[in-house]
Amino acid sequence: MKNNKNIYIETYGCQMNISDSEIVASILTNNGYHYTEDVLLADIIFVNTCSIRENAEDRVRKRLHYFKSLRKKNPGLVIGLLGCMADRTKTALMEEEQLLDLVAGPDSYRHLPQLLEQVGTGRRAIDTILSVDETYADITPVRLDSNGVSAFISIMRGCENYCSYCVVPSTRGQERSRDATTIVRETRDLFEKGYREITLLGQNVNSYSWKDADRIISFPDLLEQVAAVNPLMRIRFATSHPKDISNDLLQTIARNHNLCKAIHLPVQSGSNHMLDLMNRKYTREDYMERIEAIRNIIPGCAISTDIIAGFCDETVEDHRDTLSLMEWVGYDAAYMFKYSERPQTLAADTLADNIPEEVKDGRLREIIDLQQELSLASNKKEIGKTYEILVEGKSKRSDSQYFGRNSQNKVAVFTKTLSGPGEYVMVRITGVTSATLLGEVV
Ligand code: SF4
Repeated sequence: MKNNKNIYIETYGCQMNISDSEIVASILTNNGYHYTEDVLLADIIFVNTCSIRENAEDRVRKRLHYFKSLRKKNPGLVIGLLGCMADRTKTALMEEEQLLDLVAGPDSYRHLPQLLEQVGTGRRAIDTILSVDETYADITPVRLDSNGVSAFISIMRGCENYCSYCVVPSTRGQERSRDATTIVRETRDLFEKGYREITLLGQNVNSYSWKDADRIISFPDLLEQVAAVNPLMRIRFATSHPKDISNDLLQTIARNHNLCKAIHLPVQSGSNHMLDLMNRKYTREDYMERIEAIRNIIPGCAISTDIIAGFCDETVEDHRDTLSLMEWVGYDAAYMFKYSERPQTLAADTLADNIPEEVKDGRLREIIDLQQELSLASNKKEIGKTYEILVEGKSKRSDSQYFGRNSQNKVAVFTKTLSGPGEYVMVRITGVTSATLLGEVV
């Protein structure tokens, strides 16, 4: 089964999955397949899945049933499942529910052409073996759904932190870093193609470590090399782990103008009792010390986070500790979720998911309301300031406006000028909402 076949890829979950789908598109278009954004034109449909929360998996199941219904009009339609649900759900989705022809885990994408050939001979195909060294370093991703300004670059795969609620170590395997020279080359290639912002991706980028011919390239070293490609290329990264964020990294960011002044530092909870049960390997006090270091070394740096409400055994005091830490940090933004027990995690095997759903919902509501206040307060401090904004495209608000972000990753909307997407403009902030800065080009 080769050539002239259209592939359609639907991606769920994190930025890593978006980057993986771009790698899959590259592998298959280099094997004679064509990428289509129209599911009705597809001969092969891939769903790149996320397993981080139950509702993510429910959404995928619903889509797979819809795709199965498309077979009525297109009996030869091939349906494949990729990503973090692959290994654990292959039996249920393939044998029991007969929804799939092909299943491939996050480290098996190189084998997709052969797996598709196997399906072409009428046999189902499965490959969910995790690798200890696969990083797809030599694969140039095909940029999907891109604005031509920002792109993701995956610098490492896997994670070994084993936070007790997290599926990633079991779905993505051991931590491995990608060859630094291929990352610098990809950055240069993107700059020449007109991109002006990259986000370096990894589950825990701070533990990036590549053994070069004569030395170890650490994450701060890698940032220096990538920043040196061109001062007009902005560099962001995600995600950091508080136990590994060093002063060396902070000083590297402070020294380089094009290393963005925004750090995403997931805390998950403000309570030491919870941090211990979550196996996060730092205390509230450790975390606060890192926040102070960021504030001292990179004044004006934006800080965002992740928070889980209603984790196992969480008391009212634990919850209050989370709220008080949020206020103390004054986060610019946060991703906030209620705890969703996941199979094949330490928590599912050793702890009880004992906080009632309505209590989880109530606590999550309080956290979201507080963050809304904090984001608004943070944005209000921006009024009157002028920022260098990278123009990304037309604002959803009106055709006469553009939007872009400052180094602090805050979105600004302003009246169009001659400078278009991919160019920098200076914008004075004249008004705000909790999510957006409003301004005028100066
Ligand atoms: S650091 Fe923890 S939460 Fe993040 S991917 Fe690794 S195990 Fe999961």
